Amino acid sequence: MDLKKYVTIVEDWPKPGIRFKDITTIMDNGEAYKYATDQIVEYAKEVDADIIVGPEARGFIIGCPVAYALGIGFAPVRKEGKLPREVIRAEYGLEYGKDVLTMHKDAIKPGQRVLIVDDLLATGGTIEATIKLVEELGGVVVGCAFLIELSYLEGRDKLKDYNIRTLMQY
Ligand code: 5GP
Repeated sequence: MDLKKYVTIVEDWPKPGIRFKDITTIMDNGEAYKYATDQIVEYAKEVDADIIVGPEARGFIIGCPVAYALGIGFAPVRKEGKLPREVIRAEYGLEYGKDVLTMHKDAIKPGQRVLIVDDLLATGGTIEATIKLVEELGGVVVGCAFLIELSYLEGRDKLKDYNIRTLMQY
């Protein structure tokens, strides 16, 4: 299936000059959503993942059906102030300023084989912070999967030590 047919490019959103890749038109098509999920399920089997981790909010949309299909767990990564129990934090750079991602301290057990999933790899800042959280908890990052990679932003360069799978490249 040519998944790119289901991605909607939105010009000048959220800011002038940005060509936003809208994945909601993958999700609202049952065949395309299932196809994309199945590709990541196969990858999760290849890397023998035993838990999926995804950053909010689109990482949930991609990661949760993968976890369900495999009968394994899903651990959420959230912005500061959203998780109710004790968390660890990782800061990451935005275009202007900084943001913080958090995970529950007991979300990953030491030695667990973690597949990190998100919709899109841009500069790699989000995934780098997510990797830091997982590793601080003793998880082993066995793979990172994305529907879309914006190759021109070279996020992959930040992830040289990791196994990466992307379903579409721009
Ligand atoms: P990065 O941290 O790699 O620079 O940015 C990746 C994060 O920004 C992802 O969590 C992703 O959801 C979001 N993102 C940035 N640009 C886009 C885009 O064009 N489309 C979508 N769907 N998400 C984007």
